Amino acid sequence: MVKKALTIAGSDSGGGAGIQADLKTFQELGVFGMSAVTAVTAQNTLGVHGVFPLSADAVSAQAAAIGEDLPPDAVKTGMLFNAEIILAAAESIEKFGWKNVVIDPVMIAKGGSALLQSEAVKAMVDHLIPLSAVITPNIPEAEAITGITIKNVEDKKEACRIIHNLGAASCLIKGGHEENAEESADLLYDGKVFSILKSKRIDTRHTHGTGCTFSAALTAELAKGSTIAEAAQTAKHFIQAAIEETLEIGEGHGPTNHWA
Ligand code: PLP
Repeated sequence: MVKKALTIAGSDSGGGAGIQADLKTFQELGVFGMSAVTAVTAQNTLGVHGVFPLSADAVSAQAAAIGEDLPPDAVKTGMLFNAEIILAAAESIEKFGWKNVVIDPVMIAKGGSALLQSEAVKAMVDHLIPLSAVITPNIPEAEAITGITIKNVEDKKEACRIIHNLGAASCLIKGGHEENAEESADLLYDGKVFSILKSKRIDTRHTHGTGCTFSAALTAELAKGSTIAEAAQTAKHFIQAAIEETLEIGEGHGPTNHWA
């Protein structure tokens, strides 16, 4: 039977990030994709031009419609925008007992636009992180969640330990924001063992939607029954290929190629 994955996330009208990236990635990896939209952004490769959040009730209603008929094998969250929507997502996950929950704690777009209100970080820590099978922060997001400054691998390990203690079963801190010119190293911690996933750094500005695509690939693989370590490795290869095969569309910060 086909496996199903749900994304609870924002819409990117430009098609490179958010729900659009998630659904394209689910499809590419052979998983049936479903969505609960949290916010609509007016966006292209030049940036985010407007953010229009939906009500928390609209998010709950979408999740309930899915939960009552189409139980997902894995769920990811992306842009949640405010504390009310975070609560709606967390309540839905709990109510339906959804497992394989991947949290991409989206906070700020590469152009600087806020995709999560700063006061909502606490709601994410209190209500959503304890429900996660794995959370996939980049370094600034891991710093916002933990309150520590991350400068080296020891700091990354400490941040992983803190996030695990907040209730995330596993924590994967992405290395893309590091200043290492040679490689991008992600650190995965399952509460016992640290593992490092490395890839060659690619010099490109066309990385719009990489975080969304990575976490969607991880979610699709969990839906198909992979372990978190296996799913993270597959997602790392998937995003590497997507960044290498740049699309060259738009005038600005172009999207990665989901069908690379
Ligand atoms: N727009 C939406 C709806 C998103 O969910 C995200 C990423 O998480 C972005 C934009 C940010 O895209 P990027 O920072 O990769 O350009």
